[in-house]
Order: sequence, then structure tokens, then C-alpha cells
Amino acid sequence: MTGETDFSVVENIWEIRGTIRAETPLRIGTSSPPPTTGTRAAVLQGYNAETGNYEPFIPGAGLKGVLRSNLERVARSFDEGLSCVLTNEQRQPCGRPECLACGLFGGMKAAGRVRVQDSRIVGEKGFELTDERPHNRDRYDGRGEYYRIKPIKGGRGFRTEEVILPQNFSLNIRVDNVSEEEIGLLLLALSEFNHRRAQIGGGASRGHGFASVDVSEVVRKEVKEDAKEFYNLTETPRHPEELMKKGMNFLLTNRDNAHTGKDFSVYYRATDSSISGNIVCEIEAICETEFLLKGDSEGNTVNVQGMPVIPGSTIKGFLKKHLARDWNVSRIDDIFGPSNPKSGHRSRVLVSDFFNPEIEGTKRIPAGSRLKGWIVFDNMEERDIGEVLQVLGEENQITGNTAAGKTRNTRPFRNRVRFKVEKAWKFTLTDFARDVSTRLREV
Ligand SMILES: [Zn+2]
Repeated sequence: MTGETDFSVVENIWEIRGTIRAETPLRIGTSSPPPTTGTRAAVLQGYNAETGNYEPFIPGAGLKGVLRSNLERVARSFDEGLSCVLTNEQRQPCGRPECLACGLFGGMKAAGRVRVQDSRIVGEKGFELTDERPHNRDRYDGRGEYYRIKPIKGGRGFRTEEVILPQNFSLNIRVDNVSEEEIGLLLLALSEFNHRRAQIGGGASRGHGFASVDVSEVVRKEVKEDAKEFYNLTETPRHPEELMKKGMNFLLTNRDNAHTGKDFSVYYRATDSSISGNIVCEIEAICETEFLLKGDSEGNTVNVQGMPVIPGSTIKGFLKKHLARDWNVSRIDDIFGPSNPKSGHRSRVLVSDFFNPEIEGTKRIPAGSRLKGWIVFDNMEERDIGEVLQVLGEENQITGNTAAGKTRNTRPFRNRVRFKVEKAWKFTLTDFARDVSTRLREV
């Protein structure tokens, strides 16, 4: 990040430093794995000259891409004209001078002013990569009004892929020649991770990529007008909260023509405090019985680095199957994404892995355990969110063959879980994390 800085064109330099803490496993795939790995679904690794090892990392370019789409989405929720949007289909930036995303991240001709360094593992924790999980491929036949679900014979296999396990990574961003408002906007884009509305890497629909960003330092370096020399750089630490307020004020004073659709380029219903829109819930999973989901050949339950988890994909799989009895094909497709992923949009429901670091042993999660996780409802209607939460609030057997264990009264003694909303927040224009916990409990 240092190096060829031309101080005849640089007026100011901002540096943002901090830590990224992965809260769930990260999945950053590569098509060209390093020589040390043999798996097909390998993660991106880089050579660390200090340790002499290949280590997983978060590529700066990838993080920058997520930051750009965070900014696009936030800005467009205020006013469509404030930012263009890059999607898989439309990858061309607009390059308009008033476009916030193009201004910071680069447009047609202008180079971006944001440089994001690769994020490296911080600390001694080390890493382990292979994640093996049950992978249940039920077949959803959607030719009628309702789905008919047919288990595929032998369809209960294992998905083995490499993931980066939860730990800390460095965060280093440098931005040249921008205003305080623009740095504030970038910090707001970063804080989308903390609101759980943005994930790093792939597999978000399976619960991967939830992360927290802790900004420890924002420094503004300025070149003095009279002497553009390196040694005349003044360095001023700035308060991130104050800068974010300036970013917010900029958005609020420039809101005029908000795009109000339900697609993922905006936050839906961002001007009211209803329970429709983008709602994130922090949830407690209460195991009414022991929980066991065979995760490897040694009979351990699915675990992440020796910490047993209820996988997000298992919870989501249960939900879809349960709701498909009452919801017709188009409603299921709208909320969970279509069975044919080539048509339509991604799932509106994201479920993270559920953890409790205090649970000991990896054979099972004992009855009475309480685990924590998040569910994101992305641009959904109150009615749908309410019905999903109602199902989750009841005690359900969320996975497993009931033949695995039945008591005399035929009540399966395993994998019965109920979920309780601890906190819920919504994206609104005046408060990016408006507390809607109380209203949600009334739905
Ligand atoms: Zn643009």
C-alpha cells in the first residue's frame, strides 16, 4: 500500500485499519488450488514467506467488490440516481460523476480510489480446512400447484469442501483524494457486515461468510499546499462514528427518488417501521432433546473446529420442506429461490450456522443447550416472515430419520429444536439497524 505515491496529484490519503472476525466458516473458492491441497472444492490460499506455509486469506479485490455492492444498495435505497448497480448480467459501471459507487470504486474511465489489501490471518490460531457435512438432496417436483417432495434414493450424501474456519483477519484499506462524506459512506458500507446484511465469500445461502468488522483506526493524511513533500504530511486520527454521521447526512439530504422495488439492489420498505423489508434476527436455538447430525465417519456431530454446530443449511432445508406443505410453488420459489437456480433470484432467507462455544465434546449437542445464530429475511413481506418465525418458534424435529430413535410413545428423542428471537433489526433510511424486536413478537 505504500510505494509509488505521486504527491503532485494526491491531496489526502485515508487509512482504515482494523480486524475482520469471521463468525461462521468462510468459503472463498479457487479454481487453481495450491500444490498442498488435494480437494476438489479448495479454498484460495497464498504463500506466507514468514511461516513458509500456504494460508487461506480474504482477497482484497473480493472484499472491495462486496463493499461496492453494499454501498450501491444503501445509496439506491435513498435515491436510485446516487449509484448504479453492478450485477451478474450488467457488469458495466456507469461512470457518471454523481455516481457514489463509481466515484469511490472506479467507473468506465476513472480509476477507483479505494484500495483494499488482502486480509491475512491474525494471531496464532492456525487453520484447518476440510468441512464435511450431510448433504440432503430432496427432489422438489414443482409441476403442480404445490411441490411434491421425493427423497432421492441414496440422495443423502456428504458435501466435502474446504472452508476457512472462524478466526480473525487483518483489515487495511487506503483511499486517496476523497471527502469526509465519502469516507463516511465507505465506513457505512463496512458496517453492513456487522448488521449481518452482507457476507464474505460464497455459500451465504448455506450459512457461510457471516463476519464482524472492527474498525480500530481511521487516519487522514494531508499534503500541505506549499510543500508537497512526503515529510510534510500531516496525520490526523478521526472518529469513525463522526464520519459515518457525515455520510448519513449526505444520503439524507440527497434522497429524492428512491428505487422501491423488491430486488436485491435496494432495501425494500426502508421508509417505514413495518416488519416488511430487510429484517435480521439474532436467534437462540434451544435444543429440547439432544442434537446429533452425523458429520463424519467417526460418528461426530457436524462441528466446526471441534465446536458442534447446527448447520444453517439444515435449518433452512427443514423450513423449506415444512412450508412447502402449505405454500404454493411460486411462494416457495420467491422465498427460497427456485429449484432451478438458473431462473429467478437467490433465496430471500439466509440462515447462519448456530454455535455455542461452551459446548464440550463433538459427539452430540446435549439436551437443554442453547446456541446462537442469525436469520436474514431479505426484502420480504411481514406475512411471510411471520409464518417462518411461527414455525421456528414451535418445537420441531429439524432433521434426521425418525427411525434413528423413538421412545415408547414414539416421540423421537433427537434433534428437536425451537428457536427464539432475541433481537431483530431492520434497514431504514433514518436508522440502519432500527430495533423491531418488540413489533416482530407481535406479528
Ligand atoms: Zn456508477
